[in-house]
Amino acid sequence: MSEALDESIKRRLGEAERILITGHVRPDGDAIGSMLGLGLALEEAGKNVQMVLPAGLPHVFEHLEGTMFVQEDVEGDIDTFISVDCAEFSRIHEELQSFGEPHINIDHHITNTNYAEINLVEADSVATASILTEHLPAWGLSITRAVAAALLTGLITDTLGFRTLNMNSKAFRQAAALMDVGVNLPDLYYQALISRSYKAARYWGVGLSNLERDGKMVWAVLSLKERKAIKYRGNDDADLINVLAAIEDSPVALVFVEQSGGGVKVSWRARGKKWDVAKVAAKFGGGGHRAAAGATIEGTLSEIKPKVLSATRKILD
Ligand code: 5GP
Ligand code: MN
Repeated sequence: MSEALDESIKRRLGEAERILITGHVRPDGDAIGSMLGLGLALEEAGKNVQMVLPAGLPHVFEHLEGTMFVQEDVEGDIDTFISVDCAEFSRIHEELQSFGEPHINIDHHITNTNYAEINLVEADSVATASILTEHLPAWGLSITRAVAAALLTGLITDTLGFRTLNMNSKAFRQAAALMDVGVNLPDLYYQALISRSYKAARYWGVGLSNLERDGKMVWAVLSLKERKAIKYRGNDDADLINVLAAIEDSPVALVFVEQSGGGVKVSWRARGKKWDVAKVAAKFGGGGHRAAAGATIEGTLSEIKPKVLSATRKILD
């Protein structure tokens, strides 16, 4: 990445006094780790930073240092708006869209629309946290232990524990450097990728009990009714998609999650370099990466499911 871009981000951050940072809606470990990593580093540099997730912080990341500073609302004025891990303006939480297009957009999605004044988009990075690990020092920011833990969490989650197809040696070198700052990799790894609540495990059971397969595709449905019955609180799939992605002879997996606010969230995963599920997701207004994509689609489960399965089947044929 060009030095000029680093220079302009450094200058812009230097002028900033009151900074708002957010990640994408339904934030994952990379969105949260990147927001925290950058936010804590800027605070350390004396900035007033608000790390904001309007829908709150997912419970699985509460162990990270600094998460007690994550807010649901913006307080007072801000002069600098930064989004991390967010491919499009529309993926910024609605409540924050009133602040207008961000000043700085830091992301690794190939589908990023460069919607900010300054766009640092590196699609060959395994995670937004990888981009930050590389660039923070160039912006004069320090990687403290809390920053390192947040960034390492981003690296671990987006690579599913260093095993996604886009994994590169740089990510290992960065992980090693972050460990050297004094963070505990096995702990972070367990917290972010392995540990599950009892309810989440039962929720997996719901999805696994209605598993279906057709050709190269395997899928499961998580209905609102069943979710309520087992009292699983989230509006997500509790990562069931990554369980389905392991099923042999089924290189493409999908999960349909009926949303409490209406509509259906669909997640796709593809194994092998051959399939690009982001293309199918884009047909339904979503996006993501070749191997992992998602979309939230208006309508009912019974309307959406056949359409999505048929569109996915087309890229497999
Ligand atoms: P997941 O299915 O785990 O929510 O998301 C998989 C990948 O697709 C992630 O990189 C995520 O950012 C992206 N993704 C999920 N939902 C959407 C969406 O509605 N729009 C876009 N552009 N990307 C999405
Ligand atoms: Mn990411």
